Amino acid sequence: MKNIIKYIITALDNRFRPHDRFFNQDDLVPLPTTLWAFIWHFMRPMKWTIIGFGLMQGLAAVLISVLFWYVGELVKEAHYTSAMLWLGGAILFGRFFISVISEGFIHFVYNPYYANMIRYQLYRHTAQQSLTFFQNDFAGRLANKIQQTGRSIRDIIRSLVGSLWFAISMNVANLYFLTNTNLVLALPLAVWIVSYVLTLAYFTPKLRHYSHVSSNDFSVFLGQLVDSLTNALPVKYFARTQYEDGRVRSLLQQHSHSYRKATGTIWAMNFIITTLNTGLLVTTALIGYDMVQEQGQLGLAAMAMALPMMVQVTFQSGWIMYEVSGVFENLGVVQEGVDALTKRPNVTDTADAKTLDLGHLPPAIAYDNVTFHYDPQADTTLPPVLKNFYLSIPAGQKLGLVGRSGAGKSTVSSLVMRTHNLTSGQILINGNDIRDVAQESLRSQITVVTQDSYLFHRSILENIQYGRLDTTLDEVIAAAKKAHAHDFILKLEDNSGRKGYQAHIGERGVKLSGGQKQRIAIARAILKDSPILILDEATSALDSESEQAIQNALADIMQHKTVIAVAHRLSTLRQMDRIIVLEGGRIIEDGTHNALVRRKDGHYAKLWHMQSGGFLNDEVD
Ligand code: ADP
Repeated sequence: MKNIIKYIITALDNRFRPHDRFFNQDDLVPLPTTLWAFIWHFMRPMKWTIIGFGLMQGLAAVLISVLFWYVGELVKEAHYTSAMLWLGGAILFGRFFISVISEGFIHFVYNPYYANMIRYQLYRHTAQQSLTFFQNDFAGRLANKIQQTGRSIRDIIRSLVGSLWFAISMNVANLYFLTNTNLVLALPLAVWIVSYVLTLAYFTPKLRHYSHVSSNDFSVFLGQLVDSLTNALPVKYFARTQYEDGRVRSLLQQHSHSYRKATGTIWAMNFIITTLNTGLLVTTALIGYDMVQEQGQLGLAAMAMALPMMVQVTFQSGWIMYEVSGVFENLGVVQEGVDALTKRPNVTDTADAKTLDLGHLPPAIAYDNVTFHYDPQADTTLPPVLKNFYLSIPAGQKLGLVGRSGAGKSTVSSLVMRTHNLTSGQILINGNDIRDVAQESLRSQITVVTQDSYLFHRSILENIQYGRLDTTLDEVIAAAKKAHAHDFILKLEDNSGRKGYQAHIGERGVKLSGGQKQRIAIARAILKDSPILILDEATSALDSESEQAIQNALADIMQHKTVIAVAHRLSTLRQMDRIIVLEGGRIIEDGTHNALVRRKDGHYAKLWHMQSGGFLNDEVD
């Protein structure tokens, strides 16, 4: 038996190849931005499967109705012919067969793959977004939207086909058999259907609204709870336990209040539907009573069909109500997903984007008449961050950017990576406009070492290997040694007992100091070994051991590269071939360190002389 099931599953897998179908990596087409078009976008690859499922469900529903008709026929004939026996067998076997197949479809194809297929495609779309997109939204919120949108589309389709379509098919069949028997007998069900639909139409939007308010209130309460608990120390220092207690209590009361409105609506809806159900059964029974009085055996046969049929209808009314409100709720969730996830990426590759390959030789970089606004849609009367900006960096030059906070240093350095589109002008790498090259190939030529080290919650080994995925452990160790990170890495052990390079970083792993994180980031950059280096140096001091180690490591990594460094440390600035001082997005000084330091009343000279603790203080005027 086990082997037979295994054989069937393997055959199905080979036939439908769900792994290829559901996780396909074809080129992405832009996601539709309206609700139903968005849902259809994800239904389309499954349309035949969904139609097949719909046919099965429709047939299963009709067969239930047929079963009641069959009982009526038996009572009419008052004895079992062998033809009737066969017919009964066929109906029951048909139902069995259909239910096995549609259950198989749900559990082997639909549930395990469909929501994940949607999540995967949504992730691919989201990952394509430009940096601004991620700066403007929270990763957690996006992850949640991807997760929920996948689940909700899956549930909407399952409810529409598995429940609503099922109920419609069954009731159409019911009405057919009832009208065929006696037109009056069909009347209660017809009235019931109209009243039921009106009840749902009236209450479902209300219920959706109250549920929404109530779940919002609950999120506010949860936020308060987390805030109170994570700030337990200040709560105690300021003796505010009672104050916090009051806040938590009032939010919980508010939630109970809005929750009661939602549950009250459910009660009212249930009340009306129970009344309708009772009405349906009573009127059908009364009509049946009359029919038995008038037609005898025939009336009894009609009753034997109609009464259980109506009982079945009433049994399903609660389930359908639940499914319909689920559909509305899920439509709301998908709408939020559409709002959050369908923005068009604003930095895209051109259709004929070239691959930029510098072959390890440091390139020349030129900013050619660059004008740049962070928000292209914003009020253009706002001055741009860079205006008609020219800067030519010869191949292999180490350029230091200095200037007050907000002067435009990070903007100048990050635009080389095409983090944003320029408003006008161009940035050229060895004469190639970066707009014309594929973004992945552009960024593969650039290593960035930033103040934030951005380490993954993965092992140290994986974090360093991120610079080049195909490296061996020996190469990783060599890079870590160059980054002066090897010694401290060997001493690490995380909470699960993993040691050294296998130790995991993060919440439940090892906690690293700022200097240690930077050295791991530098080891990663050493492995990447790309011809352009962008360095955004930390403004804060590190412990002196890290400080020295990082300086040595940086000196190493900067060799044979074109470097653009937002530099604060005197020791880094001294290593630069050239320094430019920025103010308000313009270059106000340009020269070597020695030349600029000697310039009387020069901005750089002033900063240099006011420096403290080994840093240029870029807040000083
Ligand atoms: P620096 O690196 O010299 O401190 P930045 O390049 O970060 O300066 O900032 C230059 C200007 O651009 C500042 O006025 C800053 O407020 C603005 N700016 C920086 N980043 C963004 C952003 N992501 N969105 C909008 N404005 C920004």
